[in-house]
Order: sequence, then C-alpha cells, then structure tokens
Amino acid sequence: MSAGPNHPDRAFPLERTRNIGIAAHIDAGKTTLTERILFYTGMIHRIGEVHDGAATTDWMEQERDRGITITSAAVTCEWKQLEEGGVHKTYTGDTQRINIIDTPGHVDFTAEVERSLRVLDGAVVVFCGVAGVQPQSETVWRQATKYQVPRIVFVNKMDRVGADFDAVVEDVREKLGANAHPILVPIGAEEDLKGQIDVISGKAILYSDDDLLGSTYDVAELSEDQKLIADAARDSLIEALVDADEEIGLKFLDEEEITNADIKEALRRATVSNKIVPVVGGSAFKNKGVQYLLDAVVDYLPSPLEVVPAQGTQIDDESALVEAPADDNGKFCALAFKLWSDKYVGKLVFIRVYSGTVSKGDQVFNSRTGRKERIGRLIQIQSNDHKDIETCYAGDIAAIVGPKNVRTGDTLHADKFDIMLEPPAFPDPVISMAVEPKTTADSERLADALSRLAEEDPTFVVSTDEETGQTIIAGMGELHLEIIQSRLEAEYSVKTNAGKPQIAYRETITSGASGEYKLVKQTGGKGQYGHVILKAAPSARGKGFTFNNRIVGGEIPKEFFKAVETGIRESLNNGVIMGYPVVDVHVDLIGGSSHDVDSNEQAFKIAAILAMRDAFQDGGSILLEPV
Ligand code: GDP
Repeated sequence: MSAGPNHPDRAFPLERTRNIGIAAHIDAGKTTLTERILFYTGMIHRIGEVHDGAATTDWMEQERDRGITITSAAVTCEWKQLEEGGVHKTYTGDTQRINIIDTPGHVDFTAEVERSLRVLDGAVVVFCGVAGVQPQSETVWRQATKYQVPRIVFVNKMDRVGADFDAVVEDVREKLGANAHPILVPIGAEEDLKGQIDVISGKAILYSDDDLLGSTYDVAELSEDQKLIADAARDSLIEALVDADEEIGLKFLDEEEITNADIKEALRRATVSNKIVPVVGGSAFKNKGVQYLLDAVVDYLPSPLEVVPAQGTQIDDESALVEAPADDNGKFCALAFKLWSDKYVGKLVFIRVYSGTVSKGDQVFNSRTGRKERIGRLIQIQSNDHKDIETCYAGDIAAIVGPKNVRTGDTLHADKFDIMLEPPAFPDPVISMAVEPKTTADSERLADALSRLAEEDPTFVVSTDEETGQTIIAGMGELHLEIIQSRLEAEYSVKTNAGKPQIAYRETITSGASGEYKLVKQTGGKGQYGHVILKAAPSARGKGFTFNNRIVGGEIPKEFFKAVETGIRESLNNGVIMGYPVVDVHVDLIGGSSHDVDSNEQAFKIAAILAMRDAFQDGGSILLEPV
C-alpha cells in the first residue's frame, strides 16, 4: 500500500520539513537571528541578548567570551505559517519542522562551513544593512554555490544608523553575482524602521514598538509612497520570474492574469533551482521581520524531497554510484556531520538521515570501519534541551548518544545497503605550534584530550616532533589553535604552554627525479643489505601521495615490498629543505637488488628512505605556502 515517501508515524511529512543553515559574516547578527527564531517558534521563552553572552546556540564558553559561533549545533523547531493578510497572532496551515544547522562564520572554520552546507537543503544568508557584503561572506556564498544550496538573503540591522537596503541588494547582485530580488522591503530605516512591505501580497506589516519583543504586529494597507515601492519591486520580481521560470513565462506571453499564488509558486521553483535569491529586510535585534522571514523559508526553500538525492558510492568501488533518495521506505543511510561532547549527555554524533529511518535499539553499519554500531539513544536538540525520540525519519536531523567508533564524515547505513557518502574534503592545516602541559602530571590527560578534540574536528591535527619529542598541534588559523587551548583548559582542565605559531609549510618537488640507495653493512656475523631504485615525479596540487610498484622481475623479493613502501611513506614526513611534510608526489618503485642472507625488512626500509632523500635532492624540492 505504501505510496509516497512518508511513514504514517512521522509527525512532520517530508514536504513540511526544512533543513536550513544560517550563514553570515561574523557580527552580522546570525546568533541574534537564530535566537529570535527559537523565541518566535516557542522553543525558548526569554531572549538573552547576545551581548549578555546568553545566546542559546552558543554552547561553548569560548564562543560566549568571544561572541562568535564556532560549532555547527543543530536545533529543531516548529513553525506555523502566518495567515496571509491576516491580523496579528493568527496562524494558519500545518505545522512545519525547521531544523537549523548553525554554520560557523569565521574564516578559520571554513571546513565546518563546508561540512554543514552538505547536510542542509537551503540557507538564510545574513548581511549587515550597513556593512553589506563583506569579504568573508563572499567565501561562504561561493561555498553555498558549489554545493548548490538555495538561498534567501536577510538584510539585518536595518535599524542601524547608515543602514541602506537598496545598497545592500545592489552589493549582493554585484559582488556575488546573485539574481537577488526583494520580497519583504523594510519600511523606514534606522530609528524609523517600522516593519516591512510584503511585495507579493501588497500589504504593510507594522510592528508596534511597545509590543513585547515583536511577537505582535498589524497587517495594513500600503500608503501611497509604500505602494510605489511595492509596485516597482513586484514588477521587477515578475520580470525576473518570467525570465527564470517557464510556467509563469508562458502565462505572461499569453497575457494571462498573474496571481499572487502564481508568483509564489514560480518564486519557489526559481529559488529551489538556484535561479533567483529572494531578499528580506529587517532587524533581528529590534524584533522586526523575523516571522515573515520564517514564512519565506517555508514558502521558498526546498524540502528534502526537492533537492538532488544524496549520492555516494559502493563501499569498495568508487566508480559504482549509489543514491539515497529521501524516502522513509528506503534503506537507511545517514551522514555523521558533527561530533559533540555534551556535559550532561556525553558524546553526541549529529546525523542527517538521507533515506530510510533509524530507531532506538537498531544496529547500523559504519561504511568506513565496516563495523556495527548500536543506536542506544536518539535525541533532538531543541535549543539547549534534549528531547529523546524513538525514531528519526528520512530528511531529518538527530543526534545519537554515545556511539564509539563514529567520526565526522562517516556514513551510517543499513546492513544491506552498500553505500558510502563522499566524505567532505578538508583542507590541510595552515598553522602549527608546540604545546606542553603546565604540570607534568597533566601529560597523560593532555594526550587524551588532544586526541578527543582531533576526533571531533578533522581540521585539527596532533602529531609529535620526532626530533624534540614535542607535541605539535596544527589547525586552520591562530584563532582555531587558541580556541583549542582554551577548550583544553575549560573542558579537560589541562593548562598548557604554547610555542610560537608556525606557518605549516609543505614541501614538494618541481621535476621528475630518480633516487637510488644501496645499504650494505657486512661487519662479521649477519649483515644488512637493502637496495632500492625509484622514480619520483610531481603531481597536481591536492593529489597527495600516490605509489606504484613496477617491480616485475624479482629484483626485490615480494616479502620486502611492504617495508619499501613503509620507508617511502615515512620519508614523506620530513622534506629535505626544512623538514616539512612532503605532498603531491608520485613514486614508482623500479628496481633494486637483494642478498640471500643479509637482506631484511629493516634494511629495505632504510634504503627506501634514503633513495627518496636522493630523489628529493635531485628533483628540485620547494616549499609550498598553505593555500
Ligand atoms: P553573529 O556574530 O553573526 O552571530 O552576530 P550576533 O548575533 O552576535 O550580533 C553581533 C552584534 O550585533 C551584537 O551586539 C548584536 O546585539 C548586534 N545585532 C544583531 N542584530 C542586530 C540588529 O538587527 N540591529 C542592531 N542594531 N544590532 C544587531
């Protein structure tokens, strides 16, 4: 009987689910906006201002201290759309589920932005009404374009002195090349910000200042001046839609009447297909315009059914593509996109379920390890509350409590579903520094804490300097490492001293080169003999290390192949110029020789390391700046 993608037990059909991110340049007001959304959707009952450090999504102490958002917490809320043209406080229609995946705003954490963009279906991009498009918003915008995330722009801070809505819309068009069209134009600006003109319905939404936190407002007729603005915006919106959308284009050509419903439907199609970006103006802080922004999220951003299904490959065959379409009746497949250690609940893994369902008590598989994971407990985060749930359905977001061997980017899947979603690509660290515990008693705790943090955050790398024995931490920027240090202290009570941050250079070679080394030690008794001939060549940046064993004639016996490869890999840890890791090199093993008695694994490993050193010296090694 089961028709359609929805299981009868789910509270919110897929059509009424939105997974959105709120992306913004630091300080544009993302935290304030998120908090207002949680307030209007009834998830929190008071508004703690960001500058008091009480914002709800900012879980980490450091974020509070710095007033920025670093983690991608996922918060679930429910929204009933406003009655069209109605009076305040009346809601209509069915309840919608909106999951907000908090995308970090700081450039040091672009990897986190990329990861969260992969799991959301649409985004609200916040700009400051005064500052407009700032350089870092361009980065986030380009990433969203790369992942084809449909967007709505929210021009925030329209209450600030110097706020200019039209200028920001122009900025978004010019700097970001977006086909941006206002749908909710602010009424007034700065101190006189009163509300919004709803371009499509042709009504004014007026917030009365004495109202408690903007939860009530009136919908009124437009004044003459407002009508001029509304008509111009509506005409230009229709013109853009006629260009972007065939259906409304045909109506226009046939000179049929274009209704508000036609405009809304066409705008939905055009937004979902990334042809148009609707723009909403308002002020989160002054409680103006957030409710209608939420309506726009429901009206124009896609449900999980309307986006391209998640695509992965078979676990052992990268060329065999497998899809995970949003359907409760499909086989279970989810992406673990965020690890989190919660003070009260313990280790959490946030998952986005793409297809099928998962319930408490289920066994699922991890495609990276091939091992079983039992789902002991499932929760949804509602602001800073946890709500236990029995089942998480397709297209939804939840957190698993306490899984042991799950990392960020892992695919969890049903037993009979051979799928591995492409793990997100993470950039190499750009900066590193040595750390040591302030007291030797903390050494063990430090090692343990660092390995946990590295597990949570794939852009954070821990290693040991072989020569000095120092612990080296590496990450995406100085701020990133500073935050790691303060988390060590706050969450793991380990105080550390740190060395000077160093740029994490890499080395590579500029031309092909051969390398050879013959290790011969015959000093009575059993000697050492290993002989390796190889060729090294530069590969494209980002390609990493690749290796081909071309020995066919038995010059090196099979049992030493592994040792040779280990030696080659080890040689990449330290380049010949400054000892930085060597990247983007292809190595062919082409020859060598062996001795019946004196050859052993150790001798071949050393010969391989020294043959590589020989090739690096020959191949014109250079330093690479971090990208
Ligand atoms: P985030 O860094 O993007 O999360 O930005 P926040 O939400 O922390 O806001 C940064 C600062 O701007 C805070 O001091 C907010 O109170 C303030 N702010 C946020 N929204 C508005 C707004 O609409 N108008 C004004 N005047 N200030 C705002």
